Amino acid sequence: MAEHWRKAFDCAFLGSWAFNNPKKPILAVIESTDLEMVTGENGRQERCLVAHFAGGKLKPLILNRTNCKAISTVAGSCYREDWPGVAVLLTVQRVQAFGETVDAVRVKPERVCGHCEKRITGAGKMDAAGVAEWTKGAFGVTLCAACARERAGKNGEQGGGSETAD
Ligand SMILES: [Zn+2]
Repeated sequence: MAEHWRKAFDCAFLGSWAFNNPKKPILAVIESTDLEMVTGENGRQERCLVAHFAGGKLKPLILNRTNCKAISTVAGSCYREDWPGVAVLLTVQRVQAFGETVDAVRVKPERVCGHCEKRITGAGKMDAAGVAEWTKGAFGVTLCAACARERAGKNGEQGGGSETAD
């Protein structure tokens, strides 16, 4: 397996080096966002918005404006209080920064299922945004209708038929 040299250094935050295959997006579910003091490469301390991901496997990602806008699109909300539970696909893109071309982690501005990674689409009377909003409330993570149905079925079995019809 190819391993980026940056992996050998103890980086506190997620970077493009974390992708074993830069062409394969990484699925991540936002757990929280925080304003944190971050030391940049020039040693200067800066207040940054940092996203933490569920599952504890991924390092936190420093959010720049581009990624904040992308998450707002995916979450359907500019308020970061609405972001926990939102599933995002992280990709690597070559971007121009300070006269250099560098690899940067970018959030794909697309509503995706936090389980199967497929695009969330409308179901029944609900549009895609509605499905995302509903699954986030019901399961704590944005899911596609198919995965939501599957999860609801499992919960029903475990619940022992305590459902009430109204
Ligand atoms: Zn799904």
